[in-house]
Amino acid sequence: MGKTEASELMAAISSMVGKGGLQTGADIRARQVSWVGHAGADALALVRPSSTQQLSEVMRLCFEAQQPVVPLGGNTGLVDGALATGTEIFLSLERMNAIEAIDTAGCTMTVQAGVPLQIVQERAAAAGLLFALDLGGRGSATIGGNISTNAGGNQVIRFGMMREQVLGLEAVLADGTILSSMNRMLKNNAGYDLKQLFIGTEGTLGIVTRAVLRLRPAPRSQCTAFVAADSFAAIATLLRDLESKLGGTLNAFEVMWADFYETILAASNRHTSPVEMGHDFYALIEARGGDQAEDASRFEQVLGEALEQDIIVDAAIAGSHAQREALWAIRDDIDNLMKALAPMIVFDVSLPISDMPAYVDRVRHGLTRRFADAAKCVAFGHVGDGNVHFCISVGSDRHDAQREVMDIVYRELEPVGGSISAEHGIGLEKRPFLHYSRNVAEIALMKTLKNALDPRGLLNPGKVIG
Ligand SMILES: Cc1cc2nc3c(=O)[nH]c(=O)nc-3n(C[C@H](O)[C@H](O)[C@H](O)COP(=O)(O)OP(=O)(O)OC[C@H]3O[C@@H](n4cnc5c(N)ncnc54)[C@H](O)[C@@H]3O)c2cc1C
Repeated sequence: MGKTEASELMAAISSMVGKGGLQTGADIRARQVSWVGHAGADALALVRPSSTQQLSEVMRLCFEAQQPVVPLGGNTGLVDGALATGTEIFLSLERMNAIEAIDTAGCTMTVQAGVPLQIVQERAAAAGLLFALDLGGRGSATIGGNISTNAGGNQVIRFGMMREQVLGLEAVLADGTILSSMNRMLKNNAGYDLKQLFIGTEGTLGIVTRAVLRLRPAPRSQCTAFVAADSFAAIATLLRDLESKLGGTLNAFEVMWADFYETILAASNRHTSPVEMGHDFYALIEARGGDQAEDASRFEQVLGEALEQDIIVDAAIAGSHAQREALWAIRDDIDNLMKALAPMIVFDVSLPISDMPAYVDRVRHGLTRRFADAAKCVAFGHVGDGNVHFCISVGSDRHDAQREVMDIVYRELEPVGGSISAEHGIGLEKRPFLHYSRNVAEIALMKTLKNALDPRGLLNPGKVIG
């Protein structure tokens, strides 16, 4: 597009969204669009529509002018999914942040895509209900971003991923068409379930503008414990025991390999170990049910049995809200981990639980073979969901070194049928490795869908499949 066409497009967009709806120049570059600090806030303009209608009009103008766009949520994405190269327009949903309705009988909440996750959680709780998605970036991450990345988080083992929390959805297509599919029922098999096109597709098929979210009755009890074990087999046995003996109330099962745990404890004096140190694995366990006294007694009994059977070797149960928070603070202290392992790369993979210990060992050996003592690798994750996170440092943030690390982590997934992305998505970062987890026919169908919905390649160009 020439300079004249570009300035005509900006003038047309500006008259559509008003003065507060359009930013250019330094205002954009001051923004961070990568949580991990990668550069990429370089776009022609940042447009902030205040309604679906406005966004649709903006998209129609961009379609006519063949102008690419990058949707922006809360910028907590971890795979460079919202980077721009200087020729795109950012479309931010930040002014579309209203909670439109809560239906306490039907257990639904209707929201605009720019509303932060934490606000949704708080509004659901105030109505005596639960919004079941939870993750560390909750204060900034938006519902639109959560939908576009099909976010996972801490409670997937009980409630599933974001896909399971979305009943209906509205999206704006590449040519500005508004696709309203605001279903409010759990069951609706009237033809194709079109909302799925926009869940987990990272803004490459449409821009999510509104959603009907599924809420649940709020649990009335919360039991949290931290345990130590000496083998991965024991961790896997504990998980299955808890799932069956706690009667479906297991809410979180977060496993930490010893290297993760010891690095976090050494990196900050704000934590004290709730259990004896020196073991191979640690797990944070949480159950939520309907009666505090009864559930706490069953929780204690089940952990007591695991101790008697030598499945676990030590356990600490949180006796107060403050103690619970302290246990979660260990698991969530990624900031101190980043300082201890800088420059660090974060990985998010999934694979069958039975393959996990051997896979983690193969990755460690691969790193040591290539980078010797410079390689530092800690592992943790939502193991109940088959999800392992690695934080890896090889002492260099050079692109070629990081590429080699990624290849070591991802290529080992292919033989076990694992996924290079359990929950963070593909973005730009993982695109070169997609072939380790998706076959030729799968990638071809993704491209067919992309071409059908976005024939001019305007929506989040270059992300996921290029
Ligand atoms: C501390 C921390 C902990 C985290 N923990 C987890 C975790 O446990 N599980 C997990 O799954 N993720 C986790 N994440 C990642 C992140 O929070 C999620 O990916 C989140 O869903 C992204 O939401 P966002 O609004 O920040 O989206 P952004 O980062 O702004 O965007 C993410 C992608 O979605 C696209 N997008 C954004 N909004 C829209 C829209 N309205 N329509 C279409 N496309 C859009 C963007 O273009 C980009 O490709 C964590 C992040 C942090 C910082």
